[in-house]
Formats: sequence, structure tokens, C-alpha cells
Amino acid sequence: MVGGTAAMLQSMLRLFDTATRSLRPVPVGDRPLRLYVCGITPYEGGHLGHAFTYHTFDVLTRRLRSLGQDVHSVRNVTDVDDDILRVARERGVSWEELANTVTAEFDRDMAAISILDVDAAPRASQHVADMIDWISELERRGYAYRADGWVYFEVSRLREYGSLSGLDAGEMRRLSAERGGDPDDPRKRAPLDFVLWQPSLPGEPAWASPWGDGRPGWHIECSVLASGHLGTPVDIHGGGDDLVFPHHESEIAQAVGAGVSPYVSLWVHVAMVGYHGEKMSKSLGNLVFVSELLERVPPAAIRLMLAAHHHREAWEYTDPLLEAAEARRRRYAQAAQAGATLDTREAERWRGEFLARVDEDLDTPGALRVADALAEHLVGAPRAAGGAVEGGTLLRELLDLLGAAAAAAGPPAG
Ligand SMILES: [Zn+2]
Repeated sequence: MVGGTAAMLQSMLRLFDTATRSLRPVPVGDRPLRLYVCGITPYEGGHLGHAFTYHTFDVLTRRLRSLGQDVHSVRNVTDVDDDILRVARERGVSWEELANTVTAEFDRDMAAISILDVDAAPRASQHVADMIDWISELERRGYAYRADGWVYFEVSRLREYGSLSGLDAGEMRRLSAERGGDPDDPRKRAPLDFVLWQPSLPGEPAWASPWGDGRPGWHIECSVLASGHLGTPVDIHGGGDDLVFPHHESEIAQAVGAGVSPYVSLWVHVAMVGYHGEKMSKSLGNLVFVSELLERVPPAAIRLMLAAHHHREAWEYTDPLLEAAEARRRRYAQAAQAGATLDTREAERWRGEFLARVDEDLDTPGALRVADALAEHLVGAPRAAGGAVEGGTLLRELLDLLGAAAAAAGPPAG
């Protein structure tokens, strides 16, 4: 490590950074690492796509803490949004009630698969005043304009818009239409301009603002919550890779426009999980809920299934994947019960191999291959060979970094 007066040093842990398209060392040091991950819009329970994203940042947090690095993690709740208001209307409940119910279900499901609690889970609806301040600042600095009670960010004011995603204007326009950005909105000066503030429809929540009663756009929420709860630069900002554009691209624009720069040091994005040939999504009705899988296998098997996929590679859920993960969990349980021991140097070698995989862009599939080899070794090794390290304890310690320590605890089920 490089010494000196810098508050943060570099660790061996490297992550692929979307902005620079390169592996970058994660900073470690005396102050807590600031981690912001975009949270859910609470109108549906926790599905495998959510689980894969939050598992990734959970492994990151566990690894950093094992290095003695404190992590301050924030995950927002987008409780004011077109989708949640629409679903609340359809179900005849208030948006607050829907948000409370679904957030509680989501928290329960994530806790069931040992996703660590975040330090703060701020709700958008509780921070609208800060959003109004930020939008006012953008307006004052000439980055925002008004039209019929709406306020938009003027993208042409920023040359770097598109640099995070690396997309050209045509591709951004196509994705904007697909992801609710409404490029054909006639009030806009340009198709990629995005909403900062909008008037509320009758029955929708509304806040008083300089632009009339209304509600904030989606992107402004995360700029405000990330910088407000953590301070800037945010060390690591993450989310699903469908958020690179327009959400995170627009967050950067808002930060630059308001003079909050640098905003984020490292951007980490997690690939999508599919089912039946399509990305898992509410609109396609192909969601696989964590709660359903928990009825079929122990939680550790779900963690092992998630860890069997690299966070930057999209994959598709199938039942055989769940069965393979459950078989792996049983092998680990059997290995942990085998009573084998290792000498200290041998244990250090296994640990080193496992951690080297985790530290290389969270290569959890590679780490599991090391755990597989260790488990095989423990089953084949002579029982109680007199080594100082109990094999089951080592396996449990390593799997704990993947949130799957329970795989190596207790007698094998069934
Ligand atoms: Zn966000």
C-alpha cells in the first residue's frame, strides 16, 4: 500500500468501474467507506433481480468489513413514483400503505437470505424539501427550465451527458422511451431533457414548491439522498445495470449542474436476471420471488445460487440452478461435518485462494470453485489429522463472506 497523508489508501480489492470501464482499487482507510445503492420502488415484493443486486453489495460490504474497513451504506426507497401511485390506485390503497407493506416484505426477504442491514434506508417522500432546494439551485445556475408547472434538466448544457453509459444520442433516446423518459414530451426543449419536478394529478401526493404543487422526478431523489446521507464524493455508487442510463447518467448531470463534483468515485453495476427468455420485470409478469424460493430450499442455497453468477454477467433463472445450489449446500454441510483438520499453512493457502477470487471484481463463482475444492479435500482428508484449524470452521468463515455461512453449519438436512 502507498502511505502518506491521504485519508483513504488502496486495497487489493478491485472492482470494475462503469465510468472508466476498468478495474479500479477500492479505497480503504480510517473513515467509513460511503456506499450508496439504489433501492426499490415498493410496489412488488423482493424478486431474484433485487436479490442478485443486493447480494453483490452485501458481499462487497462483508469483504470490506473483514479487512477492517468500516462501511456506511445507504439504500433509498423510491416511495413516490408513477408505478407505485398507479399500483396503489389499482389496489385501492394509499401509496403510503402500499409502500409500507411492500418495504416490510422486501426487508423480511432480504434478511432471510442474510443480506446485512443498511445503515440508512431513506424514503424519497421524507426529503422533498431538499430536492426542491437542489432543483432551485439547478435553475439558478441555468441548468433547468420550467414549462407548464414542470421543471426539466436541460441536457444540452452538459457536454459529458452520456459519458457514463457511453451511449450515443440515438441509443439514449431509444432507452429513454423504453424506461419511462418520454422523449416525445412536447414541453421539452430536447428529447433527452429529464423531469426534475412535475405537477401532481388529483389524488397524488403533492408538495408546495416554487413551481406549484407537485412532486419530484425520480433522478433528483438519489442525488439528494446519496450526497445528503453520505457526503461527496460517494465512494461507491451501485445499482442494477438498467440504471446506468438514464438514472445514473442523470444523477451525474444534476451533481455537475449543482456544482457537486466529483460526485461519485466508482460506479458498480449488476447485470440483470432473466426468466423465460426475458429480463425479470413486473410488466412482463415473469418475476421469481425470493419468498417463493425460500419455501423450496434453505436460504443458504439461494445465496449459493446467486454467488454462482458473476455480478457483471446476465443470467437466467431455471429450477436446475436452484437444485444445483442446494446440492452444493449439502456438499458443504457434509464437508463441514467431516471432522477434518488442516495445518495453519494449509488453511492460509485455501483462505488466500478464496480471497484472491473475491478481491478480483467480486469473482464469487471463482470463490465457490475454491470452496468446492476445499470441501472435497475435507471429505477426503483423514479425520482429525491433528491440524490446528478445524476444516468446518474454515469453510464457514469463507462462506460467511458470501452470506452463506449457514451452508457449512449443522448436520446436512435430508
Ligand atoms: Zn437511484
